[in-house]
Amino acid sequence: MDTLEKMAGIDPVRVGLDHTFKFKCHKKVKCFTKCCRGINIILTPYDIIRLKNCLQLTSEEFLALYTEPHILEKTDLPVVTLKVLDDNEKSCLFVREEGCIVYEDRPTTCRYYPLGVASLSHKEDVDGDEFYFFVHEPHCLGFEEEATWTVREWRKNQGVDIHDEINAEWTDLIVRKRSFPPNIKLSEQSKKMFFLASYNIDKFRQFVFESSFLDRYVIDEETIEKIKKDEIDLLKFGLKWLKGIFFKEGPFGMKEGA
Ligand code: SF4
Ligand code: SF4
Repeated sequence: MDTLEKMAGIDPVRVGLDHTFKFKCHKKVKCFTKCCRGINIILTPYDIIRLKNCLQLTSEEFLALYTEPHILEKTDLPVVTLKVLDDNEKSCLFVREEGCIVYEDRPTTCRYYPLGVASLSHKEDVDGDEFYFFVHEPHCLGFEEEATWTVREWRKNQGVDIHDEINAEWTDLIVRKRSFPPNIKLSEQSKKMFFLASYNIDKFRQFVFESSFLDRYVIDEETIEKIKKDEIDLLKFGLKWLKGIFFKEGPFGMKEGA
């Protein structure tokens, strides 16, 4: 399972939500779990929340044990990929003979497969709308099975629409940052804030509630209560706040004198 960079020489065709395709994956396919070897999967903020809760870890522990840091090309933004086993196959740490041990909480990229999504590919030139493409890896025999989907149906079936809804502000931030002129560089502090709010939700909670954060920003009581109780609300809040920092927009103004 991989992004465009492993598919050198293949020109990806952009497909939209109503595009139809034949595909089925199940335990009896000869290639079962082959797509979980040689992986290069960028994790989204919601992926981290699902996986760390599934494994009963803090976000900090999950990041340390299961991820590798990278800079996302053409954005200068720090992202993480799933760590792989140090074997010849570069297998995912979660794959076993019987399949994926975190299947219910698998990342966005795994859900999309055999589709790829432009905003999550390392090198894709995205200058506007999001789009999809097929990751035609030669080992994948799912295209020979009898089941027909539209891209829209596939997304719903794989539960990826919920991931996309929660990650929407993050994806938008990446796509917009990609379209910045290359000479506009981010400060180290902005990159740290991006990483914190995107990936380290437990530390971000501490930052919001245990620093002077709430003394500096105008945030209504209802929002404060919501983000205290619910980490998805906290994540969405953090992503909106990031956009405020990056693009000088958003609902959170500074308090007078802050
Ligand atoms: S998380 Fe699961 S589905 Fe995704 S690559 Fe790893 S084993 Fe495969
Ligand atoms: S059919 Fe494709 S997606 Fe399914 S196990 Fe085989 S390689 Fe992976």
